[in-house]
Amino acid sequence: MTTEHIATQRFREFLRIDTSHPKPDYAKCAVFLEKYAQELGLSFQTIECVKGKPAHVLTWVGSNPSITAIMLNCHTDVVPVSRDKWTHDPFAADKAENGDIFARGSQDMKCVGIQYMEALRRMKASGTKPQRTLHVMFTPEEEVAGIDGMKLLVHSEEFKKLNIGFALDEGLANPEDHYKLFYGERAPWWLTLTARGKAGHGSQLMEPTATVRLVRTLNKFLAFRESESRRLKIGKKPDGSSFLLGDVTSTNVTILKGGVQHNVVPEEASAGVDIRIAPNVNLEAFKKQLEDWCREDEIEIEYVSTFWDNTTTATDDSNKWWTALKGVADKRNVKLDLEIFPAATDSRFIREIGIPAFGISPMRNTPILLHDHDEFLNEKIFLEGVDFYTDLIPVLADVKA
Ligand SMILES: [Zn+2]
Repeated sequence: MTTEHIATQRFREFLRIDTSHPKPDYAKCAVFLEKYAQELGLSFQTIECVKGKPAHVLTWVGSNPSITAIMLNCHTDVVPVSRDKWTHDPFAADKAENGDIFARGSQDMKCVGIQYMEALRRMKASGTKPQRTLHVMFTPEEEVAGIDGMKLLVHSEEFKKLNIGFALDEGLANPEDHYKLFYGERAPWWLTLTARGKAGHGSQLMEPTATVRLVRTLNKFLAFRESESRRLKIGKKPDGSSFLLGDVTSTNVTILKGGVQHNVVPEEASAGVDIRIAPNVNLEAFKKQLEDWCREDEIEIEYVSTFWDNTTTATDDSNKWWTALKGVADKRNVKLDLEIFPAATDSRFIREIGIPAFGISPMRNTPILLHDHDEFLNEKIFLEGVDFYTDLIPVLADVKA
């Protein structure tokens, strides 16, 4: 009988801890990670910005701790499962004969956390002496918008002391034979638009009514949606390549409310709008544009949630971290598909405070199954990821100050 690869063993152990919302088992996760840190000879620190929602920092102090450190981030929480839609127990981490490992979090993103750790195990075994300090970070609450997680963490005193100069975080699987590399994200904005007008009998033609005002205003948002949608379908970037979803601004009316019965004109009507603003759009100018659209019909705008940074991390030789990463990918013969992340990850909070960050989950030839039923990752692909970080991390750790 052959014993299972140590990396796969740890991966499956991690997957068996049910950290799904709404009640992630962060306590069990902490026990696992502390033991894992001891096993690899890493120091272990817990930062709790919100009680019961811990972030863990597993540190290998570099030979030159005065220069900035590398952050290797993995969120510990996962999204809930619909058990009846799964063909495997989502927290058993069953391994099929072909090596497919089924579990919630197998792609998003427990694989990556273990890959960092197993790369460090190999670096220790081979006597590597990294110059920069390495912090493997296991952070909570990413799947619920990072509000009690990274959003607070990056502003904590403990985080500042980590002296981070560059971060790696999650990406997505790629069905092609490449890795996806995310260098930016769109800024998510959620608005509630409320219109008010004359109320009365449904037979009358009063002006203005709340519903007329709301629809007239929403039509302006939808015209903008249409133009961005066209740009996505037929537009071309300056280099001739096609736009991807992350390159354009998306707008969706996600909530509509108003009225009580058919023959009563309501005095109030409202809509919820989800907007994801493309990188490098001037956010102040964008806000002014929205307010102009709303002014004519005296629509009240409630900014339910906004994000004020949509800068990107450079992917050219001006960025020494990019040069290092690209060099390793070239050496390993892996092409990188550069993209803007279409949704949101914790990377946005890292970039917001000025730390360059790339999102990458080294899974090629793999269907994108994050948040889906029967999420799985093949063991061979998983182990290739350990090889990738074993090559990459020492190079990042020795990038010149
Ligand atoms: Zn994730």
